[in-house]
Amino acid sequence: MNDLLQPKHCQMTPKIAKVALPLPLYKTFDYLIGNHVPIVGGRVRVPFGKQCKIGIVTALTDQSDLPLEQLKPINDVLDNTPLWPTSLYNLLNWASRYYQYPFGNVLTTAMPVSLRKGKAAFRTQNRLWKLTDIGKIQPLSSLTSAPKQARILTLLRNSAMTHTKLLENNITATVINKVEKKGWIEVAQNAHYKPWSTHYKVIEDKPTLNNEQAMAVATINANPNFSCYLIEGVTASGKTEVYLNLLEPVLAKGKQALILVPEIGLTPQTIERFKRRFNVPVEVLHSGQNETERLNTWLAARDCEVAIIIGTRSALFSPCTNLGIIIVDEEHDVSYKQKDSFRYHSRDLAVMRGHKENVPVVLGSATPSFESIHNVEIGKYHHLILSTRAGNVLNAKHGILDIRGLHLESGLSAPLISEIRRHLITGNQVMLFLNRRGYSPALMCHKCGWLASCKHCDANYTLHQQPQKLRCHHCGIQCSIPHQCDHCGSTQLIRVGVGTEQLETHLASIFPEYKTVRIDRDNTRKKGVLEEYLHAIHNKEYQILIGTQMLAKGHHFPDVTLVALVDTDSALFSNDFRAPERLAQLFIQVAGRAGRANKPGMVLLQTHHPEHFLLQSLIHNGYNSFSRKALRERQQASLPPFSYFCLIRAESHKSELVEQFLQQARTVLEIGALDDNSCTVMGPTPAPLHRRAAHYRWQLIVQTPSRRILQQKLSIALHSIRQLPLSKKVHWSLDIEPQDMN
Ligand code: ADP
Ligand code: ZN
Ligand code: ZN
Repeated sequence: MNDLLQPKHCQMTPKIAKVALPLPLYKTFDYLIGNHVPIVGGRVRVPFGKQCKIGIVTALTDQSDLPLEQLKPINDVLDNTPLWPTSLYNLLNWASRYYQYPFGNVLTTAMPVSLRKGKAAFRTQNRLWKLTDIGKIQPLSSLTSAPKQARILTLLRNSAMTHTKLLENNITATVINKVEKKGWIEVAQNAHYKPWSTHYKVIEDKPTLNNEQAMAVATINANPNFSCYLIEGVTASGKTEVYLNLLEPVLAKGKQALILVPEIGLTPQTIERFKRRFNVPVEVLHSGQNETERLNTWLAARDCEVAIIIGTRSALFSPCTNLGIIIVDEEHDVSYKQKDSFRYHSRDLAVMRGHKENVPVVLGSATPSFESIHNVEIGKYHHLILSTRAGNVLNAKHGILDIRGLHLESGLSAPLISEIRRHLITGNQVMLFLNRRGYSPALMCHKCGWLASCKHCDANYTLHQQPQKLRCHHCGIQCSIPHQCDHCGSTQLIRVGVGTEQLETHLASIFPEYKTVRIDRDNTRKKGVLEEYLHAIHNKEYQILIGTQMLAKGHHFPDVTLVALVDTDSALFSNDFRAPERLAQLFIQVAGRAGRANKPGMVLLQTHHPEHFLLQSLIHNGYNSFSRKALRERQQASLPPFSYFCLIRAESHKSELVEQFLQQARTVLEIGALDDNSCTVMGPTPAPLHRRAAHYRWQLIVQTPSRRILQQKLSIALHSIRQLPLSKKVHWSLDIEPQDMN
């Protein structure tokens, strides 16, 4: 292992280890070192209160703020080598400071669950055991009462042996463990490591790149050092083909490639392409795998036994020791941002990792995030454009359906219904998007206007038909559908608004001769169900597809010739300043994935605002023009990416406590920021959903012109905010560069 952290050499043997524990505390804990000196970046088991915890050693030292006699000894040293390469460990340290999240928790997030539980950091299949120097001189005669232990020593005397082989020789894992604890045997690493640089080959015929692709590949390959590239390429313009070509020099040098994708379930074809192209080991990392699979892939990355790692968000923490390139596909995708606990953005950390490891970072998308476009505009990223679809696929046509004054049935206008009919009759599929699950978003009394709403949240219940329930989409509680108004007792309860369930029922009644399928979070919760539906759609078992935006992710639908966005207006006029960006991304993504060469797709938007300038620019001039126009709007309003937000969310069942706490936090922040006017603090204001699950939610927004200022100001202020007595009484969290403000 060439690049791992080396133990810090103190003049004498260090006495104390500083240990980061998986706790919401912004400090390390000191422990006494016994005979076995731990390693920085390695795990130790330590006593903590009445419990035993696994932590990571962050430093070895001779000094402690506490008297030595008050320190407890380390129970167990679990690793002889650090878990992460130095550069990745440094990145995690940086991320802990940038996202203001405790280092111990960050480190825990960045390791597989098995390691958090204390499992050995060696691959189970190919652990290769050998005798240590002490083991070699151990007299067998001293082991007459432990014949199994003696047998291990005998077996290993001539040559190292794999774990499996030892088990086959009737040695149990417990005995191996015992002998290892005695320090007589150890794992010889990289047992089967064969560097691929010696036999690396491209093993399938590949297409000749077009000019734009060739330019992109040449530009990026010209510099093996850190630089960040944004490939803005329409769907099917050959981005993946560019990635494949970028890997060639990387793999030829025996280096590793890390490829991030939004969702593994939706990209099996892409993974297959990487496996088919090269004769090198390819591994996939995602949350659907079991603990052992994840551990083995993670370790293979560390031991340089895998060349290409493809994974979702957290795969960014793969401990590749010999990284050559990082690629982030569909870089605009919201799933790259973690929405709870350690709220990191995997794309942003990918860029930081590339910087720290001095390797190129390639971001690709047909609809780049505004953040990345901005970075191109200010010269931080290189811009590479792929403007033509490979293989002469025609671009989808698109149009606006003006629904002003038209009668809507379950959200559908008559012109849209006849368009759907036209496409179905010719044997094609149609796809409808609506970002609202359930049957109706509200149940209302026709007589007095009473709305059935959740007792615990400031939100209406959503009416569901399958099963028949009222359900709160915010706290998850459900109850049976009432027959009477709670307020006036009337039985005239009406369903207001349209959700995906209703759209499905309605379409099934208009087109009984065609089969409908609905794809949303409600009916794809079970593992494998989504894949089954997608498979059936590809086999044309369904003709009418209805879904929320999850249907748009990454999949091609060659037989879909009509796509309709049923409700455009709620995105155009949303409180969320990112809603138009997301709408445009959805629109372009589905337009790019519908239809095929001889059957171009058609995308329609239903709106009451056909003249809206953003819609006009999107329809007539495409995403590139739309995004630049929308970015100017953001700039005028000083919204991200022209400023940086930190959102402090706080909640408690006592509203006044939360408001008071955030008021105090605001004062602390303002004192810290008074010297200049670089920081704006907004709030405290009630969160958009003020009450959820009987908790009152408030928020405070800190806005700064640069990341550096955000980080400086916050780290000083937060230290004081954490000392506030109220900070222990309310539940609060920080979201640096939040992707949604709820
Ligand atoms: P993207 O990743 O941008 O969606 P892909 O790389 O998947 O695009 O390319 C779309 C299709 O076009 C694939 O089937 C791919 O094999 C093919 N393709 C890509 N580049 C070329 C090329 N230069 N010549 C011919 N076919 C190509
Ligand atoms: Zn009523
Ligand atoms: Zn609720």
